[in-house]
Amino acid sequence: MKAVSIETYGAAESLSIGDFAMPNPGPDDVLVRVRAAGVNRLDILLREGRVFQVPLPRIPGTDFSGDIVAVGSNVTGNRIGERIFAAPILSCGECQHCRRGDDNLCANFGTIGSTIDGGYAEYVRIPARNAVPLPEQLDFVTGASFGLTYATAASMLRRGRLAAGEWVLVLGANGGLGYAAIELAHLIGARVIAVNRDASRDGALRDCGADVVIRPDAQMPGTVLALTGGRGVQLAFEHVASATFAHSLASLATDGRLVLGGVTTGIEATLDLKAVFTKRLEILGARGSGRKDLDQVVRLAAEGQVRPLVQQVLPLEQAAQAHHWLESGRVLGKIVLTV
Ligand SMILES: [Zn+2]
Repeated sequence: MKAVSIETYGAAESLSIGDFAMPNPGPDDVLVRVRAAGVNRLDILLREGRVFQVPLPRIPGTDFSGDIVAVGSNVTGNRIGERIFAAPILSCGECQHCRRGDDNLCANFGTIGSTIDGGYAEYVRIPARNAVPLPEQLDFVTGASFGLTYATAASMLRRGRLAAGEWVLVLGANGGLGYAAIELAHLIGARVIAVNRDASRDGALRDCGADVVIRPDAQMPGTVLALTGGRGVQLAFEHVASATFAHSLASLATDGRLVLGGVTTGIEATLDLKAVFTKRLEILGARGSGRKDLDQVVRLAAEGQVRPLVQQVLPLEQAAQAHHWLESGRVLGKIVLTV
């Protein structure tokens, strides 16, 4: 079968397309004929090998959709032919955390496309419990575009305890995760300040729920204070990390929270300890998402309450080009590869 794999860590050109042996499903697995695969920041971090390392070669691709074409001996129900999308988080499914839908707290936490091979391929083998029925209202491209970003955004907003009427500052607003956070925060009833470098995207970000769009420059904390009556925001939604962290922290109100769910620009930042204790700030880490977050966003997507935005659809063969575009930071929403 045809697949794109990471053979060595490096630039986008290090992605190589080639022929791979057809995967065989284990007893608890299904085999999926992939139709579409979403491109995520996580794929780029994995390809670079600077933040996360996994045994290589690895076929990336955490978000994908397709049809089930074979099942393992323990898989019950008639699932052949089912349209599915991938639940991105691997977990045991049986521990106290998994039973509560908090799969991201499971001791056996992993991610499709990192821990096991993912969806940049014609066929992929995944645990049956990770193959989630794709609602009939959603096409394959949409089905490959929201599992990771929307569920992660929902998980981060839940961790950050965002409530109606609060101000939230969303960093990296034009990317898949930021765009999802704007839509979900708007649904919660929060007031959203979106932070985005490219002014040509401001209208689209307001259309999806941002009240105001500002730039990630040194004036950002002052701008945020002016917009919030001198108080600051109750929650900063951070995943850009190094490049914006200090300014995000400086934008918080007293008793404000910063939720960190990614490290796109690097893993180190300066922390103003005086601000942390005098303003009683909370810094909350958030890894991945739980099944309850995924269930919530699938329902919202099927109902049309959130509308995942796909800016570009490319064939799998152009995976390197897709990575270049995502790395440029200028893509609005998602890029999806068709297989
Ligand atoms: Zn578990």
